[in-house]
Amino acid sequence: MKKLVVLMSVFALTISLSCKENEKKTEEATDLPTEKAVEVKKETPKHWSYDGETSPEHWAEIEKESACGGNHQSPIDIVTANAITKPSGLKASDVHYDASTIIHDVTNNGHSLQYNFADNNNYVNFEGKRYNLAQFHFHAASEHSVNGMHFPLVIHMVHVSEDKKFVVFAVMVTEGDESNAFDFLESYLPVKPGETKVVGKSHHFENYILKDFDHYYYQGSLTTPPCTEAVNWFVFKDAIKASPVQVKTIADLMPRNNYRPTQPLNGRTVYYSE
Ligand SMILES: [Zn+2]
Repeated sequence: MKKLVVLMSVFALTISLSCKENEKKTEEATDLPTEKAVEVKKETPKHWSYDGETSPEHWAEIEKESACGGNHQSPIDIVTANAITKPSGLKASDVHYDASTIIHDVTNNGHSLQYNFADNNNYVNFEGKRYNLAQFHFHAASEHSVNGMHFPLVIHMVHVSEDKKFVVFAVMVTEGDESNAFDFLESYLPVKPGETKVVGKSHHFENYILKDFDHYYYQGSLTTPPCTEAVNWFVFKDAIKASPVQVKTIADLMPRNNYRPTQPLNGRTVYYSE
């Protein structure tokens, strides 16, 4: 019996030592951008989400290195009566969307449905800098609200500069007539969480997104961790239309209510650019 107890305590000691060893390895690994570090990150039990213990109100605490607790966060509620009319400096002619640009793939990353570009043929020029269109994705409902009202769906067109600053277009979607663009995009669906499908075809976004260029403009953040405060937000005033079925098809493939609640302005100004 005594022998068994001794054996058991040796066993327990071994386990506790190897745990410590693993902890040490983990700490070391996260300092290095190796494949191992990526693996360790994936195993982190508390990953952000839109629901329960890991919902947006917990992001700042879960994602320790993030800016989610910052003062210039997005989205916001746009109070149109408070928006100051002033040109943002972005004109329709600064947006270069090439009709032949290929959408590389569509992926369901578990937070949103995202269409990715493989080349840098689509870009915008803003304040003397080039921002390449990297991807666009959806939120249901819209993240920004206008006078407290959310739209059923929004498209975020994410443009990135070489120094990792962002220009994001928020294109609101309302329910109405069927949209040819949605027909095209949805012909690659469904894509389940964790799944990616190759698209390999071009689509001309300018045709339906930029008919009316009036927009709200302000400085904010990414709306998902790491919530980086380096985003020039352009929220277009006019919504585009898609049929209720087309809206539902996209919403049903994403987590329910995959939108972050609106954040305080904290003294920022929202501009309206005609
Ligand atoms: Zn987004």
